[in-house]
Amino acid sequence: MKRALVCGAGGFIGGHLVKKLKQEGYWVRGVDIKNHEFARSLADEFLLIDLREVNNCVTALSLTNGTFDEVYQLAADMGGMGFIHFSECEIMHNNALININMTYTAATSNIPRYFFSSSVCVYRDMNPSEPELNEDGAYPAYPDNEYGWEKLYSERIALAYSRHYGVKVRIARFQNTYGPEGTWTGGREKAPAAMCRKIAEAKDGGIIEAWGDGTAIRSYTYISDMIEGIYLLMQSDLKIPVNIGSPEYVSVKELIDITAEVAGKQVSIKWIDGPVGVQSRNFSNASIYSIGWQAKISLKEGISLTYPWIKQQVEKSK
Ligand code: NAD
Repeated sequence: MKRALVCGAGGFIGGHLVKKLKQEGYWVRGVDIKNHEFARSLADEFLLIDLREVNNCVTALSLTNGTFDEVYQLAADMGGMGFIHFSECEIMHNNALININMTYTAATSNIPRYFFSSSVCVYRDMNPSEPELNEDGAYPAYPDNEYGWEKLYSERIALAYSRHYGVKVRIARFQNTYGPEGTWTGGREKAPAAMCRKIAEAKDGGIIEAWGDGTAIRSYTYISDMIEGIYLLMQSDLKIPVNIGSPEYVSVKELIDITAEVAGKQVSIKWIDGPVGVQSRNFSNASIYSIGWQAKISLKEGISLTYPWIKQQVEKSK
């Protein structure tokens, strides 16, 4: 039986990844600084530890016999654009510590395969009409925010350890990912969850507020597609950082329209000042397509699966 460690197993993507690895027959240890907020973890073992401390990284990786076959590093101090904008010091400090300590400990513990969750935030701001960027297009580097700079640094530290210690490193640059059992309130939620919540809270015919002017272009990847991509990439021979994202690009206004349609509500939008992030990103998925991955769930299907879960959370919280 293969053994996997999932760091950040108490979070959104890590929690879903644990389920996938269990379905694939792995023995799984999850680690996180907190328990999962929305689901009981399916991990065989779950350790509540702070991965900013190197000794805790050693504990996370320790087994009584042998080593883990695969380590998935998804732990991060993380949130949507608001959090990324207002908490840049925490992001730079906490995430760099987690990644420096985890990569070093995994490489020096002879872990064969190590996955790192990077982000398309490593890319610069783009105009919607610009041609697609492939993974090399992250350089010369000019990420729009500190979260993206930390991801680039942590990609590079993982790649350096793979060159010098022989650990096989796989890196995914995730597009915005959404779905049930993700943060939906509190300031760390991302745009699809925030829009589902606002529309669930609004009356039919009501008004919701959104940052910017609605023209920023994004793509959103449904959680089951992202989990398939992570697993396939980890088993592959792709040694470079790899983009994983849906090719369906929409404006923020279109995201709201789709969400309102799924909810069966008419809403007006009041555009207000707030941290919007880049105007657009348009990047190539050719590398992940080359190993047989494609997004299967359209945005409307994904929102139809996510909205009822968030509506239920809103109702429970009243
Ligand atoms: P999440 O916040 O739901 O999960 C991250 C988990 O890391 C949380 O449960 C958190 O408690 C844990 N964590 C934070 N600090 C820790 C510490 N010091 N020690 C141990 N655990 C700690 O976020 P997510 O959406 O599941 O994201 C997972 C990974 O994917 C992150 O690295 C994130 O940067 C990356 N990513 C996510 C998206 C997205 O749209 N969700 C997009 C790009 C990249």
